[in-house]
Amino acid sequence: MNNCELKKLIVEEKQKTGTVILAHTYQDPDIIDVADITGDSFFLSKKAAEIKAERVIMCGVRFMAESVKILSPETQTILPVPSATCPMAEQILPERVREFKKQNPEAEVVAYINTTAALKAECDVCVTSSSAIKIVDKLKADDILFIPDQHLGSFVKEKLPHKNIILWDGYCPVHAQLTAEDVIECKKKHPGAVFAVHPESPAEVVALADMVGATSEIINYAKAQKGEVIIGTERGVVDYLALHEDNGERFIQLAPEKLCCEDMKKISLEDVYKAIKGEVGEKIELHEELRKKALVSINRMLELG
Ligand code: SF4
Repeated sequence: MNNCELKKLIVEEKQKTGTVILAHTYQDPDIIDVADITGDSFFLSKKAAEIKAERVIMCGVRFMAESVKILSPETQTILPVPSATCPMAEQILPERVREFKKQNPEAEVVAYINTTAALKAECDVCVTSSSAIKIVDKLKADDILFIPDQHLGSFVKEKLPHKNIILWDGYCPVHAQLTAEDVIECKKKHPGAVFAVHPESPAEVVALADMVGATSEIINYAKAQKGEVIIGTERGVVDYLALHEDNGERFIQLAPEKLCCEDMKKISLEDVYKAIKGEVGEKIELHEELRKKALVSINRMLELG
């Protein structure tokens, strides 16, 4: 079956079963094409909670499907490929957080939204890459453990020198590969271009950027520019811009050989079809006590952000 036929079947099956497809912007363009809602992970979870769908297929990685479940416990949430996980989301064990809190009772633990539900349940507040600075600044505690991404954590630390931010040594294996050399080489080929980058990238790369922001902020910034924009994040963003904007060739992918998240690309159109039919995928289940604890951290993020 070719992709056109598959897409037609997916649309028919969605209507028949009342299933909503959520797709992260990093997904393959064919999946974006059949999705009902596209965006970054937190936007998708919030949307799922708003529409109160009976069943959603989450095209992304495991922590995103868990976030949907935390916010919408009644929604049947399916991750089409159970092995699609974000390596960074699991780079610290919940017991290490518990240990830290025991030893540092005055400190607060801040978890990037790219963490497992089990970690969200142990932290004091979650943050997204776009709300991290604002939220950490508002916390009463001066001592803060920021988990798991050392690069986003360093970016926040630099902006908030009055806080004692302790970094964990986690990282996104995709963005962490970028070097200043990658940017310099790309700028040589595109001398008039501006450069937008995700804060999961190393400081030497962030230092060369005209704009630093979350996926959705990079998209909005790129759309607003008239000329060429070098995009320093997963290559699904350039695919997305090329699909949705005129003059798509003005969006330049930085280091395309590095900026591809294998986990994000694990889901195929066929997996989406089979997941709607109930033939593949994992139904996400969270223990109610853990879900409620994780929800407290997310709600605090909404309150402070
Ligand atoms: S791009 Fe990085 S942070 Fe995002 S899902 Fe992939 S590994 Fe995780």
